[in-house]
Amino acid sequence: MTWVQAPEGRLRVGKIVCLIRNYRAHAEEFGEEPPAEPTYFLKPATAIVHDGEAVAAPPNTSDLQAEAELAVVVGSRARGMPAEDAMGYVHGYAVFLDITARDLQRRAGAAGLPWTLAKGMDTFAPVSDVRPREGVPDPHDLELSLWVNGELRQRASTGDMIHPIPATLSAISARLTLERGDLVATGTPEGVPSIGPGDQLEAAVSGVGRLRVRVEAGE
Ligand code: MG
Repeated sequence: MTWVQAPEGRLRVGKIVCLIRNYRAHAEEFGEEPPAEPTYFLKPATAIVHDGEAVAAPPNTSDLQAEAELAVVVGSRARGMPAEDAMGYVHGYAVFLDITARDLQRRAGAAGLPWTLAKGMDTFAPVSDVRPREGVPDPHDLELSLWVNGELRQRASTGDMIHPIPATLSAISARLTLERGDLVATGTPEGVPSIGPGDQLEAAVSGVGRLRVRVEAGE
């Protein structure tokens, strides 16, 4: 399903741009240096599932993980915009889960191969409804949380992002045209949990919303 629900109706999602290592403590737990510039990969919009739906754990991974993130929903077409104009292109925000087959990602990375499959399989992009930007006065002062089966696993402030949203959107739009409905997932903090069939995930961003999905065995 390639849409997100906004108050005025569904917005078609063209692409999902996902930042890597945008929280220092998360980069450190993986023993990696955060990149000097916003660095990202693409997830296909076909990976989207919505609140109340299921993530399918495919049989080709034995280490599925969930990364809670704040997603920016793009409001209008942007190409080469400066950071000082970037917030004018934001439609709103959503809670996002960057589902990752970590074993596939590590294997691909070690072999110098793309890790599209590790991040882009069907159901690997749960997203909440969109909260319009007018309702979110400061997206860099929000509490981001993830519970697995009711147990808190991630909690951080979006103020801990290394590359703030305006600089991120500006950097992306210098090379990739952003369109209305595109999602920019801004990275995850430390504590990324492994998940499996039967688990109930709940992610929340204060002032933005909640996202609940269950994990099921996939085919
Ligand atoms: Mg991520």
